Amino acid sequence: MKDENFLKANNARSLWHPMTAPADSLKNAPTIVTGGQGVRITDIDGHEVVDGVGGLWNVNLGYSCQPVKAAIAAQLDRLPYYSIFRGTSNDCVIELAEELRAFFEPDGLTRAFFTSGGSDSVETALRLARQYHKIRGEGGRVKYLSLKKGYHGTHTGGASVNGNANFRTAYEPLLPGCHHIPAPYTYRNPFNETDPARLAQLCLAALEDEIAFQGAGTIAAFIMEPILGAGGVIPPHESFMPRVEAICRKHGILLIADEVITAFGRTGAWTGSRLWGVKPDFACTAKAITNGYFPFGAVMIAEPVAEVFEGDASGKAAIGHGYTYSGHPVGAAAALACLAETKRLNVVENAAARGTQLFRGVQELMARHDIIGDVRGGHGLMTAIELVADRATKAAPDKAIPARVQEAAYRAGAMVRVSGPNIILSPPLVLTAADVEVILSALDAGF
Ligand code: PLP
Repeated sequence: MKDENFLKANNARSLWHPMTAPADSLKNAPTIVTGGQGVRITDIDGHEVVDGVGGLWNVNLGYSCQPVKAAIAAQLDRLPYYSIFRGTSNDCVIELAEELRAFFEPDGLTRAFFTSGGSDSVETALRLARQYHKIRGEGGRVKYLSLKKGYHGTHTGGASVNGNANFRTAYEPLLPGCHHIPAPYTYRNPFNETDPARLAQLCLAALEDEIAFQGAGTIAAFIMEPILGAGGVIPPHESFMPRVEAICRKHGILLIADEVITAFGRTGAWTGSRLWGVKPDFACTAKAITNGYFPFGAVMIAEPVAEVFEGDASGKAAIGHGYTYSGHPVGAAAALACLAETKRLNVVENAAARGTQLFRGVQELMARHDIIGDVRGGHGLMTAIELVADRATKAAPDKAIPARVQEAAYRAGAMVRVSGPNIILSPPLVLTAADVEVILSALDAGF
């Protein structure tokens, strides 16, 4: 490692940080993380904190997951790379596809297409959805519907279905034919509806209305996160996603579950779709599939969709899509070890128990700090605290405030994340009750 002075001086000199204005990182030096053990990270000044962010919603098993590290090292030694494009395969990826098939069978998802991350997974599902309709002779189904405040990565298709202007405006024009309906976001919504069940009904009516307006026969797919993550942790009412599924079925529209955050236990259920009892046509995964140790993703495909592709004799089902790193053997080895460890540790139970503790804890913080306008979560380890300038008017806080809270919490012992006016908490699923208390007291000090 280069010395401390070199790293601090060059932190943002030749490096542009994602999701950051270059001038910002020159002015406010980003924290240089140099170590990770268990659920804690250490920075260049030797300051150690509990990672309340879990990397970027991905380090579900913490930083010391030896089986995943060992699997990566062993695979690098044996076969560091080979493509699985037409005519070739590798042993690891075959085994992984079988393991994933077993894992996702309760969701009705039985085939895997591998990618190098979440944005790739979203792009893959969007493209395969159009192709599915073309194979079936419904080539007019090319549009996509999604939720405002949804986040689906940064490729052009994903950005087009994203429901947050921050990730769209600078890159427009995006894909035509992408339309957004209101999210079931109880704290703020165009209907001024505060009851989650009634709000779900209103958003569903908006979805039906949009389908009628666009014409069902023009729509390829509806994409949503089972719990909206980056948009500020928005869990829909339990009736919402099952009704979305029913509406999609009625109109021949494919349902894409963007499970890049929610798969593998984060919600306190093994998948977000299973949490709501939904069987999507595609599920996009990435992040925790390798515990964040290797860039990797998988799109899981439902049996009936797979049958359409596999049963085609016209040539329309040839998949003209894939990445150099689709099925990377090192990523596949990491994912195999990660899946085994995820199941062995039964992280889903801890995610549910610690998630409840964390959510109750932030509710208690809300009683003490007027700067908190809303807290959301209650399903595993996905929690958001929305900050306001004034609770009565719900006016947004000064833009500098969330970062100030983050900095103070960091000094007091926990890394938390800022997303707009929200403080987001998504710690590793293996944290203890004592670790949760560290996060809560750091936040208490931060407000
Ligand atoms: N979809 C969702 C729901 C996400 O939360 C993310 C990333 O946070 C993505 C897609 C994009 O994943 P990646 O950043 O790995 O490309």
